[in-house]
Amino acid sequence: MLTAPFELKPKVKAFLDGDIELFINGEFVPSINRQTFETYNPATEEVLAYVSEAQEEDVDQAVKAAREAFEHGAWPDLSAAERAHIIYKLADLIEQNKEELAQLEALDNGKPYHIALEDDIPQTVEHYRYYAGWATKILGQTFPISKDYLNFTRHEPIGVVGQIIPWNYPLVMSAWKMGAALATGCTVVLKPAEQTPLSLLYTARLFKEAGFPPGVVNFVPGFGNKAGAAIVNHIDVDKVAFTGSTTTGKYIMRQAAETIKNVTLELGGKSPNIILEDADLSEAIPGAFNGIMYNHGQNCSAGSRVFVHRKHYETVVAELAKMAEQVKIGPGTEAATEMGPLVSKKQQERVLNYIEKGKAEGARLAAGGVKGIGQGYFVRPTVFADVTDDMTIAKEEIFGPVVSVLVFDTIEEVIKRANNTPYGLAAGVWTESMKTGHKVANKLKAGTVWINDYNLEDAAAPFGGYKQSGIGREMGSYALDNYTEVKSVWVNIK
Ligand code: ADP
Repeated sequence: MLTAPFELKPKVKAFLDGDIELFINGEFVPSINRQTFETYNPATEEVLAYVSEAQEEDVDQAVKAAREAFEHGAWPDLSAAERAHIIYKLADLIEQNKEELAQLEALDNGKPYHIALEDDIPQTVEHYRYYAGWATKILGQTFPISKDYLNFTRHEPIGVVGQIIPWNYPLVMSAWKMGAALATGCTVVLKPAEQTPLSLLYTARLFKEAGFPPGVVNFVPGFGNKAGAAIVNHIDVDKVAFTGSTTTGKYIMRQAAETIKNVTLELGGKSPNIILEDADLSEAIPGAFNGIMYNHGQNCSAGSRVFVHRKHYETVVAELAKMAEQVKIGPGTEAATEMGPLVSKKQQERVLNYIEKGKAEGARLAAGGVKGIGQGYFVRPTVFADVTDDMTIAKEEIFGPVVSVLVFDTIEEVIKRANNTPYGLAAGVWTESMKTGHKVANKLKAGTVWINDYNLEDAAAPFGGYKQSGIGREMGSYALDNYTEVKSVWVNIK
């Protein structure tokens, strides 16, 4: 861990001092009109760097490079094992640059450096290692149709993949998207979020060094309505994988219909975290707290609705409020910081606006509700009690450190209320009875359910949403389906 004050690693300094450009066909290039955009340090509100801004023409160049790399040359000629070796090498290089990358996450996203170092970067590394392992295990099937015919399937890479990611886990999200795509043999055009392009762009040189042939991965930083839309609308992009807001997801799905693109979407949530009467409160309360506050609540699976059995309601509210008040907020670059700023002014305003709505609609503010620090996009961890299902803060995704604590009396009632949302990404249940835990988990309409824990993730375990939380699953073997087409081959052996 770095000692305070934050000393920039020489490679990070050189990166920030240099031109931060698009990565197309294995080269660093400015955008066609030399346009740049600012990325900010959310703890200081100062410009951190200027980054080349991809235009529609740049995206077109990236797609052409990805198409060429997919159809001809080194990449399709590699064996699956050789492809795996390159992905392993990339994972090693990311690991060797973990401090540099954690610094960039802390500066650009605002999350504490030590969390980026202990969570984000290792997850990224493990993700690539996991998918490197799959490259040699993508199997088709054979079918016993008759003695005269052989039929078998090939699981072929889908082609040129457009990937659009959000700002909450800049590097982890890029690994979720690229791990499976590269293991299956696809080529990629990826757009990082405009708020947090730096860590991904730093890795471009690592992709090169690992030995990915030119054009296999291309990075086009820029804005959603320009570079993002250009990816979605491009006729030669075979598939779009998106993580972000449900509103943008709906737009992408409508646009993708124009060219019948295969789409996977990982969208918003309003996840319930249920503390039953027989829960072990010594685990459930910190579990519920971390379930919402991890990554400053900027987490699509955040447990933002905590349902508590009436018997424990006031105890849980008081304990959550106490924990919220004890959190040390500050810049992600300071060693003592437990919670950094939100990613942007827009997010800070959005979250503060929800807090005002909560108060106006009659929820009881038990902790937080303020910015906490004058400079920087901070919001103190906020706990609302006496929240009812019809309040805005119980219905809409806030994407910040704000928890709504709701009371319930029976299991049947809480299951119904937990499911009464257009979202279905994740859920948690706390109980000392495994029978009850399984029964409740089976009834919850969510892509992930944690029993007596929250926010666990692993490259091997699938993740994705029911209902308006998305389409498809990332991670695990399930994600391979996102990036493969099944070809059925018939052979006449009469
Ligand atoms: P947020 O509002 O939290 O930034 P978004 O869903 O808008 O969430 O952003 C997630 C990602 O989607 C970002 O990379 C963003 O640039 C991109 N994006 C936003 N709008 C569009 C769009 N119309 N087409 C394609 N990508 C978009």
